[in-house]
Amino acid sequence: MLPIVDSPQGAYLKIKGNKYLNLCSNNYLGLASDSALKKAAIQAIKKYGVGTSSVRALIGTNTLHVTLEKQLARFKHAEDALVLTGGYLANMAVIQTFLDKEDVILSDELNHASIIDAIRLSGVQNKFIFKHANVKSLYEQEKQIVDLLQKPKSNKEKRKCLLVTDGVFSMDGDIAPLPDLVKFVKKINAMLMVDDAHGEGVLGSHGRGVVDYYKLHNQIDFEVGTLSKAFGVLGGFITGTKENIEFMRKNARQFLFTNGLSIPDTAALSAAVNELSRSQKRLIKLWKNARYLQAKLKQHGFDTGTTQTPITPIMIGDEKLTQDIAMKLRTYKIIISAIVFPMVPKGKARLRIMPSSLHEKKDIDIFISALIKIIKH
Ligand SMILES: *Cc1c(COP(=O)(O)O)cnc(C)c1O
Repeated sequence: MLPIVDSPQGAYLKIKGNKYLNLCSNNYLGLASDSALKKAAIQAIKKYGVGTSSVRALIGTNTLHVTLEKQLARFKHAEDALVLTGGYLANMAVIQTFLDKEDVILSDELNHASIIDAIRLSGVQNKFIFKHANVKSLYEQEKQIVDLLQKPKSNKEKRKCLLVTDGVFSMDGDIAPLPDLVKFVKKINAMLMVDDAHGEGVLGSHGRGVVDYYKLHNQIDFEVGTLSKAFGVLGGFITGTKENIEFMRKNARQFLFTNGLSIPDTAALSAAVNELSRSQKRLIKLWKNARYLQAKLKQHGFDTGTTQTPITPIMIGDEKLTQDIAMKLRTYKIIISAIVFPMVPKGKARLRIMPSSLHEKKDIDIFISALIKIIKH
């Protein structure tokens, strides 16, 4: 049953009049109900209204969109940025705009559903799905890939190749081996795209993301992000070279044929980027909570898998048991996600705990003691 929330998103939230400890949102930094964002949205509504009344390419580009794109480019240390209405659409936009069916795509087997859908939509026929975060498996296929790239397309053009990976994998919390992937794409002369939905606001200095975490600025062709998770609002964006981003403004169907972000969304997001740039307080608290949670779980013998980020899986295995534990936690007024097939393979079911900067140590203690009570029964 779909829970209907009747409160702001926070460490706690209200459902049907009951208060629950919330450990399943992507509101990493608490920005979804932050006062600076709310104030920016309200002021923008007073000045500009709510809607933009047209696609961006006609008359729907407000000065707020331009400001936000400049801020995001600066924040990511990239040349330019393009903002769309979702990370899902941003993945579609890159893959569909730059590749056609005779090009080649290399994709991690655990990439997000939006990347899988984007590959389908682009019609690319030459797909190499490599083992999760496994660069060795790419080198094993290198000859086959390079042979294919040497054959021109039917229109005589050179075949393009794009390697695409999540930055942080949402079901396990592990980080893509970007430095090795950069080496590989350089060797075979391919492009590299990273979907950093769970890295933004979480990894790197000031939450600049996975590329900053590895100090690989300007070595990634397309950095895709969402504005719907740590940034606290809604939307997606792509950063890259001026040339590539400008090409997308002229050609991406996800930019040309659908409206941009609304006025309050855009203004709130500008405030979000300002907050991230101004202070690392939220980021530090997020990591403190994540480390405390993961240390406590390990101390009690739980298996948190391969996580390197605040995403905290508790590996259970059995599908029904996982769902039962999640349901029992509800009776303790705690909400977490049960992740089962088809989100993860059969037999790899898990609970997924999402701490945020809004939680306190005592909230995590409440969760741990409820979990232990349930497991011991
Ligand atoms: C959440 C997520 C998206 C989708 O972002 P939206 O802004 O909600 O469309 C895309 N990719 C990954 C890896 C995600 O985790």
